[in-house]
Amino acid sequence: MIVPWLERLLYLVAAVLFITGLKRLQSPETARRGNQISALGMLLAMVVTLLDDGIVSYGAIAAGLLVGGALGLWLARAVKMTAMPQTVAMLNGLGGGSSLLVASTEFLNLERRGLTATLDVAITTQVGVLIGAVTLTGSLIAFLKLQEVMSGRPITFAGQKTVNALLFAAILGLGMWVAIVPGVPLAVFFPFVALALVLGVMLVIPIGGADMPVVISLLNSYSGIAAAMTGFVIGNEVLVISGALVGSSGIILSQIMCKAMNRSLTNVLFGAFGATVTAGPKSATGLTVRSTSVEDAAVQLAYAQQVIIVPGYGLAVAQAQHQVRELMELIEKKGGVVKFAIHPVAGRMPGHMNVLLAEANIPYDKLFDMDDVNGEFERTDVALVIGANDVVNPAARTDPSSPIFGMPILNAEHAKRIIVLKRGMSAGFAGIENELFYDQKTQMLFGDAKGSLSKLVAEVKQA
Ligand code: NAP
Repeated sequence: MIVPWLERLLYLVAAVLFITGLKRLQSPETARRGNQISALGMLLAMVVTLLDDGIVSYGAIAAGLLVGGALGLWLARAVKMTAMPQTVAMLNGLGGGSSLLVASTEFLNLERRGLTATLDVAITTQVGVLIGAVTLTGSLIAFLKLQEVMSGRPITFAGQKTVNALLFAAILGLGMWVAIVPGVPLAVFFPFVALALVLGVMLVIPIGGADMPVVISLLNSYSGIAAAMTGFVIGNEVLVISGALVGSSGIILSQIMCKAMNRSLTNVLFGAFGATVTAGPKSATGLTVRSTSVEDAAVQLAYAQQVIIVPGYGLAVAQAQHQVRELMELIEKKGGVVKFAIHPVAGRMPGHMNVLLAEANIPYDKLFDMDDVNGEFERTDVALVIGANDVVNPAARTDPSSPIFGMPILNAEHAKRIIVLKRGMSAGFAGIENELFYDQKTQMLFGDAKGSLSKLVAEVKQA
């Protein structure tokens, strides 16, 4: 239905749209348009694919589009911002599952017709099957951990690495057998797929729920590689290009997260990090926290010349972004300057805080990256820490035994006063005590961030 040269040209246009869209995702100002451009690329790629002569049943495709489209629409509307990491995990898993199905179907089709693929296609097919299967079950475990259906704690047992190594060796052996030996019995192919599915589970269970964002980004990268492999198998260039884009961006994102946490990818994957500790009103060294009242905190904010707001995961949990904007506007009305200090791994996914604050229409020029704002804290009257913990923990600088030692942090402790909004003394993601909360200059305003901010807004209005 479509001439090959035109098909290739349109696929190329789709690939250019993907790349342009990705480029625009770099800044919150252009991200929305970037998303639309990528979606247009996807639409074009789908239309061109649907015009292919090899389409067997438009009815089945239409049914799939309807069901998938409706589910996608529902997900986009229903999923809360804080549940985004597990949603991405689920979507990655489905991407891996599709690659597994397409590559398996290609293999089974050849088998059924008694044909043999060339060695390169045979190997690519089995690599696609392997990565697709690992991505599917690995992402499913990541989803279950993040959704708290399964415990987020690392699941480890004696000899785990040996078991994994043996499993991998068995998969490699079976995979090579399937790829190299023509007319291999299906009794070899199916165990190969089953073991690959088990490997996905085994690779993700020892990783703590807290490290899941890095794992998800890595699995995202795997799903891209699996898609690219599938593209080679079925001879579809746009799938190769889009798979490679997903594969490389996933790896880059994983690296950015690891760097911002000062941890290696190996430590994330094999370090079994993330046991949770709850700190009390007294620190391990006997220091006591000082709590403050809404009235007191409101007076300090109303008369401050400069306030730096440090948002963290708790702000996303409380969904208090609109209240933050109201507070910002009130402080500015009273003559104060308000800046937001954004740590690269605040929250549970890169850019989490930027997206959250953008949702409340907080101007982008008020958001400052860590390196640009850290020097400002000394000149700041109040650092208002909202639901952030690890990203302001001085132990990252001072305590070589701390799991976050070496992670760059926001200099909230350098401000003249620090007001912390959180519900209690629970630890953050890293599961460790935070000396900042026991600092002489720090006052804790306990309560859900949304409730505390609403009360602060009311009080600052009166001040
Ligand atoms: P955090 O260290 O996880 O701390 C969040 C704090 O928010 C908790 O101590 C909690 O204390 C408080 N909180 C929870 N719900 C709240 C609510 N409704 N109202 C008020 N406070 C609430 O968060 P963070 O400082 O943003 O640090 C992020 C962490 O995630 C870092 O350790 C980072 O390495 C890790 N991480 C991030 C990414 C990423 O891409 N962003 C990826 C991987 C890992 P209470 O329960 O006492 O209220």
